Amino acid sequence: MHTTNSDSFSLERSHQLYQEAQQLLPGGVNSPVRAFRGVGGEPVFIERAAGPYLYDVDGHRYLDYVQSWGPMILGHTYPAVVEAVVAASQRGFSFGTPTQAESELARLVIDCVPSVEMIRFVNSGTEATMSALRLARAYTGRNKIIKFSGCYHGHADMLLVQAGSGVATMGLPDSPGVPALTTQNTLTADYNNAAEVEELFARYPDDIAAIIVEPIAANMGLVPPAPGFLEKLRELTQKYHAILIFDEVMTGFRVALGGMQERVKITPDLTCFGKIIGGGLPVGAYGGRREIMEMVAPVGPMYQAGTLSGNPLAMAAGIATLKELRQPGQYEELERKGQRLEEGFTKALQDNKVDAIFKRIGAMFCLYFSHEPVVDYTSAKRSDTQQFARYFWSMLKQGIYLPPSQFESCFISLALDDAMIEETIQAAAASINA
Ligand SMILES: *Cc1c(COP(=O)(O)O)cnc(C)c1O
Repeated sequence: MHTTNSDSFSLERSHQLYQEAQQLLPGGVNSPVRAFRGVGGEPVFIERAAGPYLYDVDGHRYLDYVQSWGPMILGHTYPAVVEAVVAASQRGFSFGTPTQAESELARLVIDCVPSVEMIRFVNSGTEATMSALRLARAYTGRNKIIKFSGCYHGHADMLLVQAGSGVATMGLPDSPGVPALTTQNTLTADYNNAAEVEELFARYPDDIAAIIVEPIAANMGLVPPAPGFLEKLRELTQKYHAILIFDEVMTGFRVALGGMQERVKITPDLTCFGKIIGGGLPVGAYGGRREIMEMVAPVGPMYQAGTLSGNPLAMAAGIATLKELRQPGQYEELERKGQRLEEGFTKALQDNKVDAIFKRIGAMFCLYFSHEPVVDYTSAKRSDTQQFARYFWSMLKQGIYLPPSQFESCFISLALDDAMIEETIQAAAASINA
């Protein structure tokens, strides 16, 4: 029986496996946030998943609001996706040749996202953003880029820049091992502060190749763009002949079929994808205007390659996932679920007189334990992470699996039904009350 009983909640088997893993893998993990450092304690080892649920090695079942950090929007082991991947695997794992599946997934993305006229598939979001920036630099013949504090674009050297505040903060590496030389062309500005970006352009009118931005900042919790912010970025990049890159690795196919650019009706020059377009297998992509994409080798001189890029299994998972998402009513359904959750959380906060901020866009949400509006990285960091940790563990014990950090977004999947959403609200009310 997979039940979650908070009185006898034990993660003994996870604990044993974690001891072993820590001897073999740094921190016992292959990606840092999985280690639960943001909430204290030790990570839960998962054995399997199905639909809305994760099942851990100690016999607990959880409603999954992490969804492998975004990809599993249909829920786990979705039959059409499983069938597509099994069928592809029987035809061979990888050929290193062109396959029709690559064109099929390309066409699906191009149909859904009008700003994308051509696309190149890679294996991760990190590869997508670093390649898009190389392309923007190749196309403009300029070196500097602008990124925003608190926006995460993967772990490429030039993007690992400390969230320094203030205009014209020259890039200081955020990690040892990143030479200052690789980040000296990375300029940072505060999210939602278009005036800072304007000043950067005034200072370096001929040197800025691109702005890269998360159109919803979802790696510092969930910070929506202020009205006019993204519009101003579009205007400035046009004025100064720089490339506007929307990093929709998280928001693509998440907040609308056409991503956040569909919702705000802005056409970026390049878009980065990942997460959902791989349906849970490793896929990233960058795409955009044909004229720019034709700079990419072998048509143009900008080199970028990958042994497993466009992998048949990964393409099959992506195609099956996007086809399901294209069925009528899917995003309306996600919106409806999101709204119900928002109403429930908001009421629970009011009833319990808890000072916290619930943010949501479509099927993404975040609960900040903060009294002040969260509009950028500085304000996001003022949240009470200790209170978040208590909330996190209380939810886990009630069978609700949330991201183990205040600064990650939660995701709603199509597999969650109304009763599960009610269960989540009840658990949240109990957690914030305690
Ligand atoms: C997850 C993420 C990335 C990095 O993708 P990986 O596949 O982890 O390399 C880049 N940008 C954004 C906005 C992301 O959320």
